[in-house]
Amino acid sequence: MQPAWPTLRRALGLLWPHRAVVALYLATIFVTATAGLGPPLLIRRLIDQAIPARDSTAINLLVLGMAALVAVGALVGVLRSYLSNSAGQRVVFDLRMRLYRHLTGMSLRWFTSTRTGEVLTRVSSDAGGVQDVVSNTLGAVIENSLIAGSTLVLMLTLDWRLALFSVAFLPLFVIPARRVGMAQRRLAGETQAQLAALNAQMQETLSVSGALLVKTFGRQAEELAAFEETARRIRALTIRRALIGRWFGMAMGLFGSMAPAVVYWYGGHRVIGGEASLGTVVAFAALVGRLFGPISSLLSVHVTVLSSLALFERVFDYLDLEQEIADRPGARPLSPVRGDLRFEHVSFAYLPGQPVLHDVDFAAAAGTFVALVGPSGAGKTTIAYLTPRLYDVAAGRVTIDGHDVRDVTLASLGLAVGMVNQEPYLFHTSIRRNLRYARPEATDAEIEAAARAAGIHDLISRLPEGYDTVVGERGYRLSGGEKQRVAIARALLKDPAILILDEATSSVDTATERTIQQALERLTQGRTVLAIAHRLSTVLRADCILVIEGGRIVEQGRHAELLARGGLYARLYDQQFRE
Ligand code: ADP
Repeated sequence: MQPAWPTLRRALGLLWPHRAVVALYLATIFVTATAGLGPPLLIRRLIDQAIPARDSTAINLLVLGMAALVAVGALVGVLRSYLSNSAGQRVVFDLRMRLYRHLTGMSLRWFTSTRTGEVLTRVSSDAGGVQDVVSNTLGAVIENSLIAGSTLVLMLTLDWRLALFSVAFLPLFVIPARRVGMAQRRLAGETQAQLAALNAQMQETLSVSGALLVKTFGRQAEELAAFEETARRIRALTIRRALIGRWFGMAMGLFGSMAPAVVYWYGGHRVIGGEASLGTVVAFAALVGRLFGPISSLLSVHVTVLSSLALFERVFDYLDLEQEIADRPGARPLSPVRGDLRFEHVSFAYLPGQPVLHDVDFAAAAGTFVALVGPSGAGKTTIAYLTPRLYDVAAGRVTIDGHDVRDVTLASLGLAVGMVNQEPYLFHTSIRRNLRYARPEATDAEIEAAARAAGIHDLISRLPEGYDTVVGERGYRLSGGEKQRVAIARALLKDPAILILDEATSSVDTATERTIQQALERLTQGRTVLAIAHRLSTVLRADCILVIEGGRIVEQGRHAELLARGGLYARLYDQQFRE
């Protein structure tokens, strides 16, 4: 695997804004790592000097010193865990904010081509995983190097022969431990993948629409079998991991008991030969225990670091996504807006080489009503989407009041252009808050007025909690026609100069139809309207009808003119609009 230097540099760069916390954190690591060296040194003095000299004051002081060192180490340990979490969470906070900001600015094209689950994982768990890297991995690498290095150096200075002899046995324990560590990591990865599969399955089959599909196709047994298979794998993997963990613990325990024995054996002979002091040997027996853990984890450190870098890479990939549709430098707000909309020789393609619109050219003067009609797939929705710049044109331009929509700020464009879709989306919250989304400063009276104008007020007042009834995917289920009127009320509150209207194709009963019709009439008054028409009443009142076929405007004019021509419009009229 390639050491990914640019990623590493960039990941470390994330720490820079929090350098004070990180520096303190590193300082505490230094203190806890080196404080452990103190007690063995004090033991050595105790045995070699204080006890032979029968100096009880020295004994008291040395023991007090040991106790103090241990206490300081423990206290600094608490501070350290605060600092490590703080540093980790700060970096995670920055990343989450940057990711969310960046992703909300992505174009519709990106949202239509990316799986929601994937996005959620990156923003929540990948960014969260970074916390672990900063709080644990980073600290562990530094601490282990410090502990292993300082212990080895100390041992070598105390008695290099005894040091080399003790270290010679290390590979015997460290190498199998490393193997076990790798196997454990691999199993952890597999378990993670299976858990993700289990989650995906639950997400799909336990959602409202998923559950509906499973039930109506009678596939419960199959879903259960698939679930069981994955759950079984997770069970087996987890048990194996626990067992392997036990092997690691055993190697650790063996080393813990054998290493001091070996030190006493060789050290004992050196004491007899007068080559070493008793205190040194006892200190060694204590020091050698500090080597095993750090060295075995340092031996597999590259795996940890590489997987951390992979995590960072996934986050950085998202941060580097190009924001296709963004404010140009020097973009100006579009305000005040009259609402003159023009398409000037516009061509467009969703996918390279597959043009969807060809040379679309029309004008909708402020306050006029333009209807788009045409067979399905002709490009009507696409024309609608180009107006608020959900996509950018490939050639030509879209202008509002003479300004290219690419030259004005997206925020002001969003205020100028309103949209009412066939399937309006409501957030899972109260009706009041759904409406207020259009204009946060709207008063309750204004909200009610808009609901009245949209012909939905009576229905809302009859709901058990009125305007506070929670709607959305898992709330009170409004019918299609009701949702549409909520969307109309929302658009009324927003009061945009230009309105894009995608009429619902699904039929509603005549009474509802009439209410929606009246609501729409109020909504469209005094605005420029671009309507994808499915209703007779819409085409009848349009100032201009654009007939779209194969991404081109093939006919345009008023209803009577077009009908008299006996072309595509006349045929569509016969199929679609004549009751
Ligand atoms: P209409 O609204 O008239 O039914 P659309 O504007 O939705 O037609 O679609 C026009 C053409 O563009 C269709 O052929 C459709 O398949 C294609 N199209 C629509 N959306 C996308 C997309 N996100 N990616 C690729 N092609 C698309």
